[in-house]
Amino acid sequence: MTSNNDILFERAQRSTPGGVNSPVRAFRSVGGTPRFISRAAGPYFWDADDRRYIDYIGSWGPAIVGHAHPAVVKAVQEAAERGLSFGAPTEGEVLMAEELCRLVPSMEQVRLVSSGTEAAMSALRLARGVTGRDLVIKFEGCYHGHADSLLVKAGSGMLTFGNPTSAGVPEDFARHTMVLDYNDAQQLEETFARVGDRVACVIVEPVAGNMNLLPATPEFLQTMRDLCTKYGALLAFDEVMSGFRVALGGAQSLYGIAPDMTVLGKVIGGGLPVAAFGASAAVMKHLAPLGGVYQAGTLSGNPVAVAAGMTTLKLVQAPGFYEALSAQTARMAAGIGDAAREAGVPFCANSVGGMFGLYFTADVPRNYAEMMKCDKAAFNAFFHAMLDAGVYLAPSAFEAGFVSAQHDDAVIDATIDAARQAFATLR
Ligand code: PMP
Repeated sequence: MTSNNDILFERAQRSTPGGVNSPVRAFRSVGGTPRFISRAAGPYFWDADDRRYIDYIGSWGPAIVGHAHPAVVKAVQEAAERGLSFGAPTEGEVLMAEELCRLVPSMEQVRLVSSGTEAAMSALRLARGVTGRDLVIKFEGCYHGHADSLLVKAGSGMLTFGNPTSAGVPEDFARHTMVLDYNDAQQLEETFARVGDRVACVIVEPVAGNMNLLPATPEFLQTMRDLCTKYGALLAFDEVMSGFRVALGGAQSLYGIAPDMTVLGKVIGGGLPVAAFGASAAVMKHLAPLGGVYQAGTLSGNPVAVAAGMTTLKLVQAPGFYEALSAQTARMAAGIGDAAREAGVPFCANSVGGMFGLYFTADVPRNYAEMMKCDKAAFNAFFHAMLDAGVYLAPSAFEAGFVSAQHDDAVIDATIDAARQAFATLR
């Protein structure tokens, strides 16, 4: 019998490039037909054949309190009844800005936007506007959305000026971005010694989640902090993924390092489009309407989205929320690791807060180059065995996974059992 997923995918490919509205959804690297999701609740979602999966994508991070949490749904319904969008300020935006600055104390002010891409792009423009410098430093394997000057990979040659990773990005833009190696403090020092007085901003995922899960070393982030201070560059932590995911105050609270700018998204919208960037008032005053750095948005601070975000932010502040989430995520990573060991499959796993990484390699990778050595074919086979068993992992060997507060003991145990059987098929 033909699956409704196959039928929808066939139709989707006629009306939408690749059949999807964001590339990784297309199963290009793992092969097969993407599942078309019809509904979700708690730790589960259901596909177009009404087949249930334990979900470890969680909308790529936002669904931290579980899907369709009754309190979030209620807040959204009530907000929707009061009107969908006004294009004029609301009390909800004030409350949300106050709450974000209270929970992430390195920010004195925030501006709300609608996507992580927009937030990172705006933060870079602000950093350039404030410093009067053009050069940006990013790190190989970190993703900051698809703004032109961030779609850049390391170039060849000494200067490590970037090359575009996408057609349509002018080389002239890429020239202003340098791409260095993640977790290489020495290379960063050498680079600052050479060009430090031209650097507007260093942007980093302090716990990287876009080359699988790869936490920064404390020394790497501290070196970055010290160099930015010394050379007058702004340090931007992109916490779109790690914010309210690895800890209540984000990765910056785990490491005890305060960036100059913070970029947020995902969890702060609770599944609707809210993202934000923030900094000191002295930096933020350079933004329009006060200052000369332009930035705007028709749906920025949308009242329905803010209602979902604020309710989610309230729920994650329940006592013990992150302790329980972290423990549950760590238990799952350890359980999957044990299952691999029993089966004799070279594999390891790691987690930070509610994020995890599964690596088809004997040791936990410490940098991008080590990450790229993971056995992709083994991951793909494991991914499909898990999918067949009703466990939906990110469809790529190089993405992190996300656990929600609704993934209880029974759900985690079912996942570990499925992994044990999946590894057995890989032997
Ligand atoms: N920064 C990071 C660290 C991200 O993980 C993402 C999205 N995965 C973005 C920025 C871009 O966010 P969005 O997809 O909402 O534009």
